[in-house]
Amino acid sequence: MSHETFPTNRPAVVTCGLPYATGDLHIGHLRGYVGADVFTRALRTLGQQTAYVCGTDMHGTPVAVQALQQGIEPEELALGRHEQYEETFPRFNIEFDNYGHTHDETNTELTKEIVQTLEDEGYIYEDEVLVAWDPEEEQPLPDRFVRGTCPYCGAEARGDECDEGCQRHLEPGEIEDPYSAFTGNPAEYRERTHKFFRLSDLQSYLQSFIDRLEGTSNARNQPREWIEGELLDWCITRDMEWGIDYPDTDPDANSEEDLVLYVWVDAPIEYIASTKQYTERVGSDVYDWKDPWKQDGEIIHIIGRDIIQHHTVFWPAMLHVAEYNEPRAIVAHGFMSLDGDAFSTSRNRAIWAHEYLDEGFDPDLLRYYLTTVGGIQDDIDFAWERFQQRVNGELVGNVGNFVYRSLLFAYRNYEGTPDVSVSDEVREQIEDAIETFRTSINEYSIRNATQAAVDVASFGNEYIQRNEPWKLTDEDPERAAQVIRDCVQLVKAIAVLIEPTAPATAARLYSQLNEDGSVHNTTLDDALEAPAARFDEPTELFEKIEDDRIEALNERLDERIEHEEMTETPTDDGSETDDDVDLEPLSEERIGFEEFQALDLRVGRIQSAEPIEGADKLVKLAVDIGLETRQVVAGLRQLHDVDDLPGTRVVLVANLEKAELFGVESNGMVLAAGEEADLLTTHGDAPLGTKIT
Ligand SMILES: [Zn+2]
Repeated sequence: MSHETFPTNRPAVVTCGLPYATGDLHIGHLRGYVGADVFTRALRTLGQQTAYVCGTDMHGTPVAVQALQQGIEPEELALGRHEQYEETFPRFNIEFDNYGHTHDETNTELTKEIVQTLEDEGYIYEDEVLVAWDPEEEQPLPDRFVRGTCPYCGAEARGDECDEGCQRHLEPGEIEDPYSAFTGNPAEYRERTHKFFRLSDLQSYLQSFIDRLEGTSNARNQPREWIEGELLDWCITRDMEWGIDYPDTDPDANSEEDLVLYVWVDAPIEYIASTKQYTERVGSDVYDWKDPWKQDGEIIHIIGRDIIQHHTVFWPAMLHVAEYNEPRAIVAHGFMSLDGDAFSTSRNRAIWAHEYLDEGFDPDLLRYYLTTVGGIQDDIDFAWERFQQRVNGELVGNVGNFVYRSLLFAYRNYEGTPDVSVSDEVREQIEDAIETFRTSINEYSIRNATQAAVDVASFGNEYIQRNEPWKLTDEDPERAAQVIRDCVQLVKAIAVLIEPTAPATAARLYSQLNEDGSVHNTTLDDALEAPAARFDEPTELFEKIEDDRIEALNERLDERIEHEEMTETPTDDGSETDDDVDLEPLSEERIGFEEFQALDLRVGRIQSAEPIEGADKLVKLAVDIGLETRQVVAGLRQLHDVDDLPGTRVVLVANLEKAELFGVESNGMVLAAGEEADLLTTHGDAPLGTKIT
């Protein structure tokens, strides 16, 4: 690994977070896969030798839970999803050099080999651990088989992750008040022997790693607190059958079940395994997986911001001890909401990947939207209207318009490219765009790199308008030829620069320009190479999206969500295919009225709301409860538009003990229902501060 400017003369590997084998892909999921594909293509445009690999994440409890619900084997379930993903990605022009899965032989063997090395190096020890157990079913409840309360922030959490609160990874035995996510039975803790990885010995290594790490700032800043705090050793085994067996499981260690590796051990190893499979297929003279992973090369991980800890703590620690190279960069992307609210697979509140394609939209339009609507770190929103605006405004109105009018004029008057040299003004303009593109990719900004291509079109439109070549053909034919020659060069530069984001569009454009060779193999220099002398009559590059189409799409989405809401039954048996856990069982325990009265619930109104630095889910609220204003920290940030919160009437628990979250005092709690944090409110005009009884 180096920290030299891209392109370096060492091979690079780009990976994206592995899709997990439990659900259909919706367009929000595509952000990471598209983002990494754009980044890979952009590196190649810079001239960097790059492989793009990925694979399906097959193991872990969500697959096991879902398979149990469907009455099939986990392998069957996971392989079915794997095939579906493998078929879907290319339809969005996401082209992996290798797409494997974590259950295949390459990954299984490599995982065992790496774990064996960790063991040989003295980084593994055995310890007793408390494992949640369903006493009625006589079943261990690893990870997502159990739910309960986060010991750090008090939020309802999954066994392995405080998914709705502070986002911490939770070790087995940490979750409080555990109950089975599957049967709802209260769980008990039993002692089991498990394997631990001595993460605590690697603190200083991890600190220096984070200091070196490139990519997005969230990937460097978020883990600092974990790394610099008390770094707990990491339990790397589970009481399960589905997974990769621990390499040397001692049959006497646990009397009944064998141990499998925790899914977060073998999942990232797929990055290496998939690169290895690529080499096995093309030969090490074309691409040697050892270059990035063992020798001298560049590793770039593009991941969702929910899995930063796994990639900045566990993963580099394993790589370090097993003597593999560490990643050069981690780019952690934000999430996408749908029309202001979270995508919800359980509520069918989503635009599914197949639906987008069935609608007949060019995949490049979505790629463009995902890449440019916000910076990669930002959370972004999708709405059909906004999609229409960006497509019609930027792609149709700017890029498409410039390209078509230029090529049509060139074809009609010169049957191709006028035979003169490009002007200094236009050459410099393209050189600037090339430089912006190069700098942006070195800053891991695919949005700015794409903007460089779009800016060439904006310049082109202005240039053609300013020079009015249609007036010049008779008055000053030489000048007219110059202007059109310049425009054709700008079109060629757009094709080269927009290829990473819109590869199929760039290919159409290259073919309209009658260029030899594939636009996918071009590098930045090609943007300034002379265009072909002859080309045919061009066609429009993009199609405008009409209003009635957007209305129809919105209606369909609304109807479906309403329909789903009406048909939702509280006794859902969980047989539908999503990884969300069923409703919590009703509490057996009754409380007296006095106990209820001990809760001081008040009507309040949110006065202000602001995000909390370093905590992606949390927002700091000032809540007016009539008698005073309370500062409250709430996990609402991803579920609500923070700017929309002020003015909202809420119900506040006023006598809850004070807590501190991410260094911010929380004096009370705002009540909300469920995964979407549906805020409780009053429907009349009870004055602020009224006690709820
Ligand atoms: Zn928590």
